[in-house]
Amino acid sequence: MLQYQSPEQDFAFLLFNLFDVETEWGDIPAFADFGEDLIRAVVQEGGKLAAGVLAPLNQSGDQQGCRWEAGEVRTPDGFKAAFGQLAEGGWLGLSGNPAYGGQGMPKLLGCLLEEMFWSGNSSLYLYGTLTVGAAICIEAHASEAQKALYLPPLYAGTWAAAMALTEAHAGSDLGIMRTRAEPNADGSYAITGTKIFITSGEHDLTENIVHLVLARLPDAPAGSRGISLFIAPKFLPDADGRPGLRNAFASGSIEHKMGIHGSATSVMNYDGATGFLLGEPHQGLAAMFTMMNYERLSVGLQGLGAGELAYQQAVRYARERRQGRSATGPADRSAEADPLMAHADVRRMLLTIRALTEGGRAFAMLVGTQLDRGRYLDDAHAQALSELLTPIAKAFLTDRGFECAVLAQQVFGGHGFVREWGVEQIVRDTRIAQIYEGTNGIQAMDLIGRKVLRDGGRTLGYLLERMRATPVPAALQDRLDDAIDRLERVTGALRDRSGDDPDLAGAVATDYLDLAGYTLYAWLWAWMAHVAPADAFGDAKRQCADFYFSRLLPRTLALEASVLADQRSIMAVTADSF
Ligand SMILES: Cc1cc2nc3c(=O)[nH]c(=O)nc-3n(C[C@H](O)[C@H](O)[C@H](O)COP(=O)(O)OP(=O)(O)OC[C@H]3O[C@@H](n4cnc5c(N)ncnc54)[C@H](O)[C@@H]3O)c2cc1C
Repeated sequence: MLQYQSPEQDFAFLLFNLFDVETEWGDIPAFADFGEDLIRAVVQEGGKLAAGVLAPLNQSGDQQGCRWEAGEVRTPDGFKAAFGQLAEGGWLGLSGNPAYGGQGMPKLLGCLLEEMFWSGNSSLYLYGTLTVGAAICIEAHASEAQKALYLPPLYAGTWAAAMALTEAHAGSDLGIMRTRAEPNADGSYAITGTKIFITSGEHDLTENIVHLVLARLPDAPAGSRGISLFIAPKFLPDADGRPGLRNAFASGSIEHKMGIHGSATSVMNYDGATGFLLGEPHQGLAAMFTMMNYERLSVGLQGLGAGELAYQQAVRYARERRQGRSATGPADRSAEADPLMAHADVRRMLLTIRALTEGGRAFAMLVGTQLDRGRYLDDAHAQALSELLTPIAKAFLTDRGFECAVLAQQVFGGHGFVREWGVEQIVRDTRIAQIYEGTNGIQAMDLIGRKVLRDGGRTLGYLLERMRATPVPAALQDRLDDAIDRLERVTGALRDRSGDDPDLAGAVATDYLDLAGYTLYAWLWAWMAHVAPADAFGDAKRQCADFYFSRLLPRTLALEASVLADQRSIMAVTADSF
């Protein structure tokens, strides 16, 4: 049985020791009211919801799954009431604009709350994250009238949202999508086409579902510059803004998936559905990126939440399960065998999960601080930094989250492969996070191409300087300096070589992203070790930092060698010889 408790002590450490939020937020007037007591209360309440309401439905939701009947989708038992609690508690509008019913809370706080909701129940929280992401997109690009109509029910969670981009022939390459939007006489548009893989496209959780749909206008230029964005609600709002006439789209079927069974993924058929232009014609993809960037961090948090959930199961099991004897002699003579915890190889697995999860949590919160500064202080550096870090957050947090889930499964031995304990579900549920919201390969190419090479490495250079200026324990300083130098050296080499070889960036992108991720975690671990308190919690932090530097940071040596190696073999192999 999966069990979950919110990691409140670690959150408090990151909020008040590492990021020192009261100082961090001191120059942001909108956050003037967020003192320590309020922050602790919000985290505690969010933790109660994740552990007490969402988590108990995680396994039953997986086993029951969603049901499709003549275009209607039934979510698993209990999901509707739990989503209602998520909505009524104001959790969906947490970082939303108070002018439209949001709570105006810092994104940094949103990161840790989202992590808990993902840990608690990733299928259920998916309905929430799409709702929040759509609201953020509407707030950034819609007309005043559209904001007034759609934002309050979305932030209140009485309406949910879906994001309709993918078509059968157009996934990573949205430029070739075909869904059409023809102008109607009243200024609306008639949308026709079929989208696939639409998360939350149809369900029974809310009174309305707002679809953000990408489609082409009749005069649209070819490619990604000819795509526009439309709001298409399942029920068209009446004069009072209440759900009115049923719109002309429906779920054609739901997918049978490897995991996230409680999340309904629909084929959506739009048959002349009424849509309203959101933002400017032909600028839809750029507008959609507002939502996608939000979702990318959120999906990264899905990976992080999975790592935490997996860790908690594995630790519990390693304490209870007895096999073999400790290498230094029996740890418990009263029993016929010692707990798994006595074995160094099991500890290696547990510490790997812990180091990646706690490092990842600090990293996610770092991204949150930059998003807050960019939004509330118009800080261009912070904005650029959050853009640089977003693809790393999406890909590295989810790749490591999956690694952690598999490691936790390994701690369970054969019991990790069977259903009873639930860890196999974590593996299945987490795998998708590496794929949707732009595959991790696409994230890696975004990092290297748009975020690093395009500005000549300037934003990364600024980050590296900040990393070098952070005080860290003397025992870690040289290794951290080496790691930062390594990332700088590899970036410089790529900059020099990429002009000669158009395939180079793609050939090394994934390894480069990993190199950046492990280096960032090293900085954060060293910084955490420096500010960790002088108590048992702080000792554990420092030991985990040592483990990270000894056992995980060396992965960067192989990554450097791999990125700097001759890449010609990749494209030299003829396509026929595969
Ligand atoms: C459960 C689930 C939920 C989803 N939810 C939504 C949703 O709510 N809304 C929505 O619109 N979509 C959704 N998707 C779609 C998802 O975002 C896409 O599956 C994903 O973006 C990849 O597209 P694809 O599956 O067509 O793969 P492809 O684009 O065909 O990619 C296949 C492989 O080729 C690689 N590749 C593709 N192009 C390139 C390139 N130019 N260079 C290098 N490598 C490349 C990819 O990295 C990948 O490894 C969902 C998918 C699933 C499975």
